[in-house]
Amino acid sequence: MTTLFISDLHLDASRPHITRLFVEFVRNEAVNASALYILGDLFEAWIGDDAEDETADAVASALANLHERGVPCFYLHGNRDFLLGDAYARRARMTLLPDPSEVEVEGERIVISHGDALCIDDLPYVAFRALSRTPAWQRAFLSRTVAERVDFARRARAESERYTRSLEEQITDVNPEAVRAQFAMHNVRRLIHGHTHRPAIHASEMSDNASGERIVLGDWYEQGSVLRVGTEGLLLQKLLH
Ligand code: MN
Repeated sequence: MTTLFISDLHLDASRPHITRLFVEFVRNEAVNASALYILGDLFEAWIGDDAEDETADAVASALANLHERGVPCFYLHGNRDFLLGDAYARRARMTLLPDPSEVEVEGERIVISHGDALCIDDLPYVAFRALSRTPAWQRAFLSRTVAERVDFARRARAESERYTRSLEEQITDVNPEAVRAQFAMHNVRRLIHGHTHRPAIHASEMSDNASGERIVLGDWYEQGSVLRVGTEGLLLQKLLH
């Protein structure tokens, strides 16, 4: 059997072909897998489970159908959809996992994460992340009207794009010390994450001088990146060419 990992789909009404690609991927491929893991940023933005959204409806129904066919789906938050809550997870029949999580995949313990928490050189982002993950910030945000939240999300996105472009590439990538710390905290040889949109399989130095593996998933803006883990090994591929 194969376990599938995806992240950074950034699904949004403005890119209906990518939502269609995801629904087809679930219907044709995930349905034959042992499990589907979504490592954050499934959606381009998430302002609360109470906001009506056709893309979110299509995704929930595809995933609920997958669950009905006996394939579990696990999801952890990205930096775009960290407000995705229990109500939506229940609708989509996916299990919310903490970031990071240690999971057993095809007989091996591995660590999964979105990856933004490893980018510790981007200090303003680290500060915003800490603030926006507090219950008080989230309660205050979710108590605003949907229109106010939509407006906030749009402005935050534009600002974040401008800001990210102004940074050196190294700042927006994972910090090697943070990766080492992650490996040290969990006694595993593999770490899978997304977020940076730089798909690759890196050999990663570990504390005991053994070599670990850090697998980075790509985005679905242009790549449709999928990691397939099976008994024969591990394949990082693209659905879009
Ligand atoms: Mn991200």
